[in-house]
Order: sequence, then C-alpha cells, then structure tokens
Amino acid sequence: MKEKQNTGFWESLRVILKTARVISRMDWKNIPAFVGNQFFLTIHPFVTLYFSARILDVLAAGAQWESCVKWVIAGLACNYGVYLLERLTACMNSVEGITLYWQLYQEMSRVMMKADYEELEGTAIREAKERIERSAQMFWYGPWEVPGVLMSVAQGLTITLVSFILAWPVLLPGRGGDISWGVFGVLLLIAGTVIYSLSSEKKLYRLKENSLDKQSAEYRLESFLYDYAEEQNGAKDIRLYRQQDMIWSRYDHNTQTIRQIAARRRSLQAKIYGVRGALAQSVSYLAYLIVGIRALSGAFPIGSIVQYVGAITRLSEGIRVLVYSVQQIKMQGPHCREYLDFIGDGTEKEKYAHKQDGSIDVAPDVDYVFEFDHVCFCYPGTEKPALQDVSLTLKKGEHYAIVGMNGSGKTTFIKLLCRLYEPTEGRILLNGIDIREYRYEQYRKLFSVVFQDFCLMSFPLGENVAADIQYDEERVMDCLDKAGAGKWAQSLPQKLRQPLYLVDQEGVNVSGGEAQKIAIARALYKGAPFVILDEPTAALDPLAEAEIYTRFRDLVEGKGAIYISHRLSSCRFCDTIAVFHEGRLVQLGGHEKLLADKGGKYAELWQAQAQYYQENDRKQME
Ligand code: ADP
Repeated sequence: MKEKQNTGFWESLRVILKTARVISRMDWKNIPAFVGNQFFLTIHPFVTLYFSARILDVLAAGAQWESCVKWVIAGLACNYGVYLLERLTACMNSVEGITLYWQLYQEMSRVMMKADYEELEGTAIREAKERIERSAQMFWYGPWEVPGVLMSVAQGLTITLVSFILAWPVLLPGRGGDISWGVFGVLLLIAGTVIYSLSSEKKLYRLKENSLDKQSAEYRLESFLYDYAEEQNGAKDIRLYRQQDMIWSRYDHNTQTIRQIAARRRSLQAKIYGVRGALAQSVSYLAYLIVGIRALSGAFPIGSIVQYVGAITRLSEGIRVLVYSVQQIKMQGPHCREYLDFIGDGTEKEKYAHKQDGSIDVAPDVDYVFEFDHVCFCYPGTEKPALQDVSLTLKKGEHYAIVGMNGSGKTTFIKLLCRLYEPTEGRILLNGIDIREYRYEQYRKLFSVVFQDFCLMSFPLGENVAADIQYDEERVMDCLDKAGAGKWAQSLPQKLRQPLYLVDQEGVNVSGGEAQKIAIARALYKGAPFVILDEPTAALDPLAEAEIYTRFRDLVEGKGAIYISHRLSSCRFCDTIAVFHEGRLVQLGGHEKLLADKGGKYAELWQAQAQYYQENDRKQME
C-alpha cells in the first residue's frame, strides 16, 4: 500500500502548475480552446442577466419602443454571439481533449519502454502505473483533470468578480431601506458554505483515498477478467470449459464488494450536496429580500431587481466554485505528483532506468569473446539463486547448446548475457572488459534473440521483420525465405504490407508455426554477430524443430549461435553443450564426450528422452 503524503495547498498548486506545463508541451492547442470555452460558458449567464435587466428598466420607465427594441436586438446579438463562440470552442476542445487523453497515456508507455527490464518484472513500476490508472478511472484524479481544475479556478474568480461588480450598487449603504442585517446574513451564509464545503470535502477525499486502496484487488480482477474475455486463449477456454457462469459470479461478487465500499461514500456525498444546496437556496431568498426592500424604497428601477438578485445568487455560486477549486487543487495535487514521478517529469533521468551505461564503444566486426566469470544471480525479491557460480566462455563463430531441466537457469543465463539483468556476483566480460563498461545501445546490437515467448505486433509483416517502419523489402523477403516463411508471405494479398492479426480490419491471423518463422526472420534481419534461439520452437513437433535447427545452423554459419532446447536431439550437433542443473553449470563439452560420461546429467537426460520418444513411437504404431 502506498504511503500517504500530506500535501498542503501551495505545494499542490505548484504540482498542478508543473503538470499544466507538461500538458502544454504535449498539446498546446488544447489550452486556448479550453480556456475560451470556459470563459464563454461562464460569461453567458451574465450577458442574459444584464440585458434582461436593461430591457425591464426601459419598459418600466415607459420609454419609446425603439429604445426597447435596440436593447432587445443588442441582447440577442450578444447572446447568440457568445453562444456561438462557446459551441465553437467546445468542438475544438473536445477534439483536442481526446488527443491529450491519449498523449498522457503514451507518455506512461514511453517510460515503460525505457525502463530497465528488471524493473518491469518487479512490482514497483506496475503498482505505480496501476494506481495512476485506478485513480483516474475510479475518481477522475490525475493530470487528465488539470485543465478542468485550472478552469474551475478561472471560472470561480470570473463569476465572483463579475457578480460582485453587478451586485455592488445594491449593497452600498444609504440607498434606501435598512438592509445591513440582510447583507450580514448573506455574508454569514457564504462564510458558512465555505467552511462547511472545505471540511466536508476533506472527509470525502479521505473516504475516496481509502476506497482506492481497499478496492485495488477488485480493480485488478475486473481488468483481468475484462481482458481475458477478449484474449484469444481466454476466449477458447471460456467456450470449452463453459467459464461464463463462473466469470459472471466473480463479476457479481466484485460488484457487491465495490458497492459496499462505495455506500458510505455515497451517503456522505448526498449529505454534503444536500446541505450545500440548502445554504445556496437561503442565499437566494435573502438576496430577494434585500433587493426587494431597496426596490420598494425606490432606490433603483424595477429591472435592476433581476440584475441584483441574479448577481448576489451568482456571487455565492462563484465563491462555492472557488472553494471547490481549492479542494480540487488539494486533491489532484498528490495524484499529479504520482504521475510526474512516474514519467520522470520528462526532464529528470528516467525514474525506472538505472542501468549503468558505459563509455566504451563496442568494436564492430571483431572476434567477440564473452566470458562468464563466477556469475551468480538472484531475481529481485528472491533469495534462491537462479544461477550459481557459472563460468563459461562463448566465442563468435562457435555454436553452443544450453540444455537442462525446466527451471535450471537456461533463460536466466541468456538474460544476463543480453544485459537484461546484472549479475548479483561475478562479472561478464566481453574481450576482457566488463560488459557494463560498454555503451548499452551498441552492446545490445550484438544479439539477435528469439525467446520462447516472443511477441509479434499487429503491424505490417515487413515492419515486424525489420522492427522498423522503413525497411529493405528485398532483404526482408530474403530473411523470410531463409526462415521458411517466404512462400506464405508471397501468398498474402498485400505481401509485406499485410497487417498481422485482426486488430487491423485487413489483418490476417498468424498460426503458431508461421509466427515462429517470422520471429526467426526478424532475428536474421537484425544481422547481429550472436544469434540466440531460446526454445522458440517448443510448440513444434520434433521433426519440424529439427528441420528449423538444421536450416538455422547453415544460416548462422560464421556467427556465434546459442540454442536452448529441451529436445537434446536438436542440439547434439553443436560444438559445445553446456548442461545446467539447479542454476549450476554441471557439464561442458561435445555430444559424444558428454554421452560417454554415463553417470552425468546429460546422459541421464538423453536416456530419459530417448525412452520417451521410443515409447511414444511404439504407442503410435500400436
Ligand atoms: P529455464 O530457462 O532453465 O527453464 P529459468 O532461467 O527460466 O529456467 O529459471 C531459473 C530459476 O529462476 C527458476 O527457479 C525460476 O523459477 C526462477 N525465475 C525465473 N524467472 C524469474 C522471475 N522473473 N522472478 C523470480 N524467479 C524467476
């Protein structure tokens, strides 16, 4: 649970203004439209009020109808003019508002793309992101609301000022009828409204903050079930295991819990709005009384009654909006702070990117030699080492296989090699220098990796292979050919421009086997000196896997290659096989040598697999 910070008004205001600066950097066009719209909305009732009062004054004074018509025309023209401007700015504002909505989320996505990989596997970044999203979706808290907050400040100030100017004459002493008690009453009611609003909103805010934390489990479950219903694997299971009823009952249970948590908040809200409404009504009635007394004593024409009553009523509304704005600033401030902290404000160093970046250039096209020097590694938040005292040398031009049971540390080894994680103990050297000393941007270019859980994007095929919007079509096609997906690519209606997956209307669905070939083509296109296949073919049958591995061997001739597969037969042709067991490197050598060590782990795994395949074959024959 997040530690609560008590943020004062001025600090909150500072944060809000800082957020406004960040927003204006993203979408400056939105600001004038928004400001204009709020200004015209605010000023509109005053235009009506002013002209109605003048028309009534002229009528009551028995003036010529021409002067009356003049006021009517002027009033209508001003009213329509303001209305048109208000609508126009509203249109511009809603269009721009949507881009702002997305841009604020895009900024968060940028942070996640730049974050260190290990941060993404940890909980801090996810919790921070989730809290920002939850606050926005449940209570409209966060930077999305900043334009609204600033405008309610401007609105409150405008209403208060204009109402005061319009109401001022009636409040002046010595204009007939003693109304000092009434003015005192109005001031008292307004002061009461201010004090009550400030204290009640504070209580409400505390309740909301409480529910934000209490409802986090429900919120997570809602999001999970919502995504599960449309996710392809989920959609299959929902149908085949008839999970609809189960999901509905979880939804129901969730809704009940959320309702219970919200009940106290709703009843407090109803009470607050009720008391505030009663106070506002009392101000209106008192305003009528004051203005009526003055009018009866003949202090001003009858039409001005409309203006004064309207102005005094609006004055109390203006003050209420100002109080609301103060509360909003206090409430939104801490949430905007969370957002600014998350995005690193766009100026500071990225909050979730701490990886040490070196200053040494990676020499292009040399004989790279990697050396794991007594490397140990524990995942953040765990104590059991995933790798223990691993020492191993990898050379460009040689082919390696890493084998071992599930959980023996094979993928972790690759993640460390690619600097997705840093060793907890020991060092990894490239040509004798610690890999942390190299520029990371250059270092990561050394590897083309196809992980088991690789992802393709719902972009055109060519962009997927090149991992870029601009690409060399011939080379992309060549890589697809080499990966065995050339014919399939040629058969697509839009060939390399064909969007993948049905996110796009013209998209095509891609089978598991095709996806694997596209991922391999992507690794080939990158052209890195080291190519790593981390069980990307696990979903294929042994023959198909063997075919891909055989073809791959030819494709990566001269490069360093590392294969991970739990099918030992696919790896037997590698120059060196590294056998991992429980995080340790237990054997190293060629296939024949390792097999000859009868008591070794490799021979044990080999025997177990040979037996499994023989039994499988026998069952299929029967
Ligand atoms: P392999 O690739 O051989 O199946 P891994 O390298 O994925 O094994 O995992 C090695 C060990 O590290 C396992 O015990 C696994 O549970 C643990 N592990 C893997 N990923 C994480 C993670 N993100 N957080 C914590 N432990 C992990």
